[in-house]
Amino acid sequence: MASDRWDMLQPFYREVVRRNAGDVEFHQAVREVLESLGPLFERRPEFREAAIVERMCEPERQIVFRVPWVDDAGRVQVNRGFRVEFNSALGPYKGGLRFHPSVNIGIVKFLGFEQVFKNALTGMPIGGGKGGSDFDPKNRSDAEVMRFCQSFMTELYRHLGEYTDVPAGDIGVGGREIGYLFGQYKRITNRYESGVLTGKGLGWGGAQARTEATGYGCVLFAQEMLRARGEDLEGQRVALSGSGNVAIYAAEKAQKSGAMVVTCSDSSGFVVDEKGLDVELLKQVKEVERGRIAEYAERRGTSARFVPDGSVWAVDCDVALPCATQNELTSEDAVQLVRNGVKAVAEGANMPTVPEGVQVFRNAGVAFGPGKAANAGGVATSALEMQQNASRDSWTFAHTEQRLAEIMRHIHDSCHETAERYGVPGDYVTGANIAGFELVADAMLAQGVI
Ligand code: GLU
Repeated sequence: MASDRWDMLQPFYREVVRRNAGDVEFHQAVREVLESLGPLFERRPEFREAAIVERMCEPERQIVFRVPWVDDAGRVQVNRGFRVEFNSALGPYKGGLRFHPSVNIGIVKFLGFEQVFKNALTGMPIGGGKGGSDFDPKNRSDAEVMRFCQSFMTELYRHLGEYTDVPAGDIGVGGREIGYLFGQYKRITNRYESGVLTGKGLGWGGAQARTEATGYGCVLFAQEMLRARGEDLEGQRVALSGSGNVAIYAAEKAQKSGAMVVTCSDSSGFVVDEKGLDVELLKQVKEVERGRIAEYAERRGTSARFVPDGSVWAVDCDVALPCATQNELTSEDAVQLVRNGVKAVAEGANMPTVPEGVQVFRNAGVAFGPGKAANAGGVATSALEMQQNASRDSWTFAHTEQRLAEIMRHIHDSCHETAERYGVPGDYVTGANIAGFELVADAMLAQGVI
């Protein structure tokens, strides 16, 4: 929460803005963390002396490269590729690749910065990084996606390795893309290095429950927040945004837990389904056919309607799960959700709520789980995949899901306990930022000036 102590950290923030001119999402992510840290710095003055904040806000390495490829019409296309290796104090850089036209260095820096603290909160030995490209996989053939992935990896491979940097998926990068990327890495290096990428297919080194993990984890986090308030997810009405990997499996897990999920969305609008989403139909439309949610509404019948304009957050709900993309939930949306009596908000996407919106939820006493805590189940299960690869083992779905549940409980409890210890009970934003930062900062301190 912004306070007098924020004054102390403002000069650091101004320096970040100066050095990263125009990278507005990165500024936003840095500010959000720094605003929480005043109380920690009062207790740990050594962080200041060791310039931990200055080091933490400067990525260890930033890679920007050309990705040339040939489309199906024989034309040469050029995209830009990125990998920001942000912090390796806790382990090899770990974080997804995003393929979307909005991707630029600022977006990748913001995502990489968030990833550092998220990964720390999981308690697993992974550092933070992020990458991607402004390539738009929409309306591209499998062959075009393959050629793009091969070109992307032809440059990136030299920076990767199971002990160096381990990418995975994010928006626009799923099992298909990970397959093509892995194939090219293997071909160039002549090494079957399973642990160099996560989110692999189940038959060749992938982990059970990895596909489901981010969405499942987000619901488990919401469940823990409700339990801490003496409530339960069962019987609650859930609104969610998005219709990608995170949203689909958040919907599946919420309904398995006895809640009713009444919305989903994509860039063309949203669906309201009063009988509760038919997750199998949604999977068919989105994952198999790579279609739009308007088609879901058409095929679902009378219970569902497609709404092309307006906000999904105007739909009445007890629990909100923003699972689409950054800054999708505005302060007006937050006011509307509070007016409708929302009890808990857990972020499945990275930074989907604007800062003013977060403030609205906090002022209203809504349980608010920030993305770096609530959506950490995906990367945590990636770390479990690395663990299986390193020991040439493969666990059952039930075992992996149980480990995921334990990790989400651990993240919840450490945020909750940290918030309490710092005199802001129930404030998961402060709890997540302080707990995550302290873990990374302690490791940096121990490792010297690096
Ligand atoms: N892209 C996901 C995230 O934002 C997963 C990253 C990973 O598994 O490495 O955390």
